[in-house]
Amino acid sequence: MKMEYKIQKGTVYLIGAGPGDLKLFTLKAKEILEQADVIIYDNLVNSDSLAWCKDTAKKIFAGKTSGQHSIPQSEINELLVKEAKSESSIVRLKGGDPLIFGRANEEINALEDSNIPYEIIPGITAAIACAAYAGIPISERDTSSSIIFLTGHENPEKNTLNLDFKNYAKTNATLCIYMGIGQMKRIIDELTQGGLDPKTPVAIVENGTQQNQRSCYGTLETIVAQSAEQSIKAPSIIFVGSVISLRGKSDWFESRPLFGKKIVVPRSRQQAGQLTQLLKFYGAEVIEIPFINILPKYDKATITDVFAEIASYEWIIFTSANGVHYFFDLFFKAFEDLRSIGLTRIAAVGNATAKEVKALNLKVDLIPESANANALGDALIANESLDNTKILLITGDKNSDTLYKRLEGEGRAIVDRLTLYKNNKPDLSKSKAFQDFKETGADAVLFTSSSTVNHYAEAIKSLDLTNVKNPVFGSIGALTSQTLKKQGMPIAFESPKANLEHFVVETIAHFKKSKPKSNS
Ligand code: SAH
Repeated sequence: MKMEYKIQKGTVYLIGAGPGDLKLFTLKAKEILEQADVIIYDNLVNSDSLAWCKDTAKKIFAGKTSGQHSIPQSEINELLVKEAKSESSIVRLKGGDPLIFGRANEEINALEDSNIPYEIIPGITAAIACAAYAGIPISERDTSSSIIFLTGHENPEKNTLNLDFKNYAKTNATLCIYMGIGQMKRIIDELTQGGLDPKTPVAIVENGTQQNQRSCYGTLETIVAQSAEQSIKAPSIIFVGSVISLRGKSDWFESRPLFGKKIVVPRSRQQAGQLTQLLKFYGAEVIEIPFINILPKYDKATITDVFAEIASYEWIIFTSANGVHYFFDLFFKAFEDLRSIGLTRIAAVGNATAKEVKALNLKVDLIPESANANALGDALIANESLDNTKILLITGDKNSDTLYKRLEGEGRAIVDRLTLYKNNKPDLSKSKAFQDFKETGADAVLFTSSSTVNHYAEAIKSLDLTNVKNPVFGSIGALTSQTLKKQGMPIAFESPKANLEHFVVETIAHFKKSKPKSNS
């Protein structure tokens, strides 16, 4: 049974979005977010979570942008009251836990003054999450049986210290300091002055739980210099206490094989992010740039003709997952029943394409060893005589006609070619990911098709990438590599088999080889 938390109009939900990793949202938070009419969110919230909202939801950013508060707290309070009075359901989304250093009480007071009902949904606070993702056991029964959450400054607008850290020097507790980076020297000095041993271990975790997490270790004596050397910035948690030396050696999060690597996945807007998911699983930071935009494009009369004879084809050949997707979209508009497809056999160019077909519980009768059009042609021709065999070939507008010509010529088959989609050049000026790429570059770009290579080459022609990280190029297989060569783009690695799993393994191998040997 699907349990869904039913939300109320006119109510404000104060929700903790957790520390950044999207999967650390609570189920309750996600269910409420999916139903809310208005979402007012802060800058530490992972904005990918907004994709869960309804299309009609109003999303209001209330966080800081480059040091400035975009909306003052008093206005946020008024906004919450106003939106709730208009009978909408409101989510107030804050990073971590809403009640920890999040000024939630000011918002709660405003709601109570106006008799507006509210609920609070806790989230995983940054200190707990950072400790876990750095493997620091923040309590330990022999050495630290208390944990203290402290803030370097009370609110982001004030840069002064409210606390006297000397008072925390003799607590024997694990100190977890939020918003402490700007005041770190003073904090450390006060702790030392208060009598804390200068050899006490200190850890800093920056951007905890995210793909760009970094951590820095030292002692009270060394941490200021150490963090300056690594140029550690906010948002970070500073941990102080003996428990830091108890952390395991494995560093489970930051030691994943692609951790710290920024990888561009060029793909169309519509494609499912299977490659992205695999890369993220191994720790990479992935930016998806839609270097191609695939849109439906077909001739209605041709569709009518093909569908009128659909059961007469002996083979239907799919050369891409997009082709499968568009074909069955149209098919189910025309027919109610999958059996209308007849006794045809189905061929797919590779596993990704076959997977889409299998998702409809249809068997794929032929997949060539290598996922490319030539190999598909070879396999079909070698399979049996195609003499006078009726074949339906599903393509996009940029597919070369080699396969079509071979099947008709060499194979002497009767081939109907059905073009269902076009590869468009997208407007990259609207892509946040592309802006990010322009500013910082990436470690690698992984190409899964020739058309993305061509669109990439075109898109970066006018870019100056000299001051950013210059990516290496990975290719999924021989055909994509040929196009890379034609474009004069050096190939750093090529997947031994044209499928995503092998491609990711090859990517990992590439970075392992190119990693500078560490002394430790
Ligand atoms: N309500 C939030 C804290 C807001 S105060 C929570 O419960 O986590 C903002 C401070 O939280 C930042 O300056 C930083 O010290 C800390 N912080 C938030 N997210 C963080 C993250 N992903 N990694 C490290 N520190 C983080």
